[in-house]
Amino acid sequence: MVKELGVSYYGFHYPDRAEEDFLEIIDHNCNAVLLAVSEYDYNIWYPNVVKIAQIAKNLGLTVYINLWAFGKVFGGEPPSVFLQNNVNNRQVLTKELPFLMVGACFNTEGFRKYFFDVVSKFASEEVFDGFFWDEPHYIITDSREIYGCVCPRCRELFKEQYGYDMPEKANANVFEFKEKSILGFLQESSKTVKEIDGKKSVTVCLMPFFTAEEQGASWEKVCSIKELDVFGTDPYWSIVQKDMDFVAKVSEETVRLTRKYGKKSQLWIQGFLIPAGKEEEVREAGRIIGKSGVDSVFTWAYRACEGSIVESANPKKVWSIIKEVYAELKK
Ligand SMILES: [Zn+2]
Repeated sequence: MVKELGVSYYGFHYPDRAEEDFLEIIDHNCNAVLLAVSEYDYNIWYPNVVKIAQIAKNLGLTVYINLWAFGKVFGGEPPSVFLQNNVNNRQVLTKELPFLMVGACFNTEGFRKYFFDVVSKFASEEVFDGFFWDEPHYIITDSREIYGCVCPRCRELFKEQYGYDMPEKANANVFEFKEKSILGFLQESSKTVKEIDGKKSVTVCLMPFFTAEEQGASWEKVCSIKELDVFGTDPYWSIVQKDMDFVAKVSEETVRLTRKYGKKSQLWIQGFLIPAGKEEEVREAGRIIGKSGVDSVFTWAYRACEGSIVESANPKKVWSIIKEVYAELKK
């Protein structure tokens, strides 16, 4: 039996309409919801975000908040208001890529203040049961040849710590420095939550790569953050062209590591971008994840992202499979 079953939910703006959606989410065997709040939502719709969270709570759902794609260093599609207004706080790569990739730098005072202020504001709202740090990462480049961030602030900090200038190609010190930067950022964010309201939980979800070189921080190091309650990952097999063995392996490793560090575990089912004819894989992945001994299972996202750029080919079919597989996991 899996104790917690949920979906992420986004694009909401009116409490009465959201209530209908939450009832549908409950009908799909969920007892939790993750509100994915973008910078647009935060800047424009703050009062209703809080009201909508309260509606979910009143219906008995556990309510988590995901500061979705903030600064583009957390996972997700939404644009960043911060980056638009603060080009000087962008990550700088050692060489320009043929296409523009942007993200705020974890080490700049501007981004740190902005993000921690947002965290403080939401942490002061009693309605939220927990915070979710979604795939924190540096701009992803494919090699050691081109890397970031080498902005003036990072160069300054690196030199202070290692006694030489940031190298042209990434080396072990660079990976260590980047890992320390992400860990420090996550720790500060988590501490901010706990200091304001110790009852709120903190979850971090990393991409299903294990090392610091692959995504900035290793699973092991992130899992050992003191303030962290739940560690999870999202083995979205279809978008990385992997199979169910990948889902099984990643699930086992998540549960093993969380037990080692005394944390709760969370695994995500891919409900978006499921190609036509592959819908049954969602059930299969759900069953594999359910058997792993995990504490919490979520799916991205409500209604299989119907109508968004990441919708599944047959969103209604995927959404009904999620309902069915959740019914199995609930038992
Ligand atoms: Zn930087």
